Parts: sequence; C-alpha cells; structure tokens
Amino acid sequence: MQKLTVIGLGPGAGLDLTLRAREAIESSDLIVGYTAYIALIRDAFPHKEMVSTGMKKEVDRCRLAVEAAVSGKTTAVVCSGDSGIYGMAGLIYEVAQDYPPIDIEVVPGITAACGGAAVLGAPLTHDFAVISLSDLLTPWEKIERRLRAAAEADFVICLYNPRSRSRADMLRRACDILLAAKGGDTPCGYVKNIGREGQTSVVLSLSQLRDCEDVDMFTTVFIGNEQTKLLNGKLVTPRGYLQREE
Ligand code: SAH
Repeated sequence: MQKLTVIGLGPGAGLDLTLRAREAIESSDLIVGYTAYIALIRDAFPHKEMVSTGMKKEVDRCRLAVEAAVSGKTTAVVCSGDSGIYGMAGLIYEVAQDYPPIDIEVVPGITAACGGAAVLGAPLTHDFAVISLSDLLTPWEKIERRLRAAAEADFVICLYNPRSRSRADMLRRACDILLAAKGGDTPCGYVKNIGREGQTSVVLSLSQLRDCEDVDMFTTVFIGNEQTKLLNGKLVTPRGYLQREE
C-alpha cells in the first residue's frame, strides 16, 4: 500500500534526531515540511527531494503530502519536536479521509518539553501539563480554563507557543492566572532554540516571568509546582524518593 510517514525531527534535528526518524527520511522519495524545518535537515540529506511550504499552510502541506503518497511516491511529512504534539500527525489522518486508503506511520520525536527540561535540569520528574498559549485554533477562554485547572491541581506546567509579536501580552495574562493559585516565587525557567544554534536558558521566578520580554515563539516555558526547587542553578521537581525515606 502507498506509504506516508509523519516524522518528528526532535527540537533541532541534530543529535536529537532519532535513528528511526533518520531511517524514515532515508527511505522516503519526497519530504514535505514547513520551510524552517526543511532548512534544518536540508544539508544532512542533500540528495532527497524536498518541498517546503510556509506558515499557516498546514492543510495545503498535508494535502500535498497525501496526494503525493496516493500517486505512489513514498512520502514523509516532517515536524519539529514530536510529530503528534502540536504537530501534523492528526491533520494527516483527517486529510487522508478524503483520499483512497494509504498506509500512515507516525514516527515520534523528542518534544520541546523533553529537550528543554533536560537543559534546565529535571523539572518534569512528576506530573505535568502541556498547554499552548496560541489562540489561533483554540479560544483564549479555553486556554485560561486549562491554565487555571493545571495551576489548581499543582501540575508542573510547560507552555508552548508562549508569546508572539501579535500576542505580546499572552504570557503576562497566563502568568496572572497562574499567580492566583501559585506563589510569585515559584521557580520557573525557559529555553530558547532548544538543540539549535543560539540555545539559551534562563531560570527565574513566576513574578519575573510575568514581566519577561525575552520569551518568543522559539521558546518553551516551564513553571514549577509546589515541590520544584533550584539545586545548583538547576530546576528540579523531586519525584519524592528521598522524601519517602525521611
Ligand atoms: N511539535 C513540536 C511543537 C510545535 S508547537 C514539539 O513537539 O516540540 C511550536 C512551539 O513548540 C514553539 O512555540 C515553542 O514553544 C516549542 N518549540 C518547538 N521547538 C522548539 C525549540 N527548538 N526550542 C524551543 N521551543 C521549541
């Protein structure tokens, strides 16, 4: 059957690109992806046919890929991080409904939450919630509800799409919601350009995060829970092993 693979490249498509993802790229005739992600892998696979499409062209990109697969080309769609976490995997399954059946394989990747957590220390060692602050596809009221619920339940919280030029105040609004349930000194951190050139990380308090202008769309933000602490500058959420022995 005709084959379409949805591949997560990891945060930077460098050392965090899995062997399985690499092999899936190698065995595809055509690679389709957002311009910035194709750029990440272009040099590593110089002989592959690749097609890139712009931002907000997700449906077109998926149709193009499904049509290529239906026509007999082994095709791959690449996404940054994981292919199913705010990635193209779901949309590929949806779009494929309109076409003759093809074999779809999802190849997972290291999501920004895992990549960023490893840079900051070990903030995700206990229950955590991942929330995107993008209201392009989700009403802001629903995002607020999820933020409130995650803060109330004392999850460590990981924010994707934390801030853009057109939505500059969203991180501040999110922090205000979290501050209703959490202390201003809650340890937080963010990592920019995880696994890519220019990777930087910052540890700061929730109050400082609220007024932080440095966070952008290439940043993943981490907000600690009641147990999260700083150990030698690293953000750590204990699972509780040592505390059990006390
Ligand atoms: N599928 C991706 C997420 C896409 S949503 C994944 O699993 O990682 C896009 C958001 O992910 C960005 O706004 C940012 O918050 C986060 N992100 C993705 N790659 C990143 C990177 N290399 N460095 C920092 N944040 C990243």
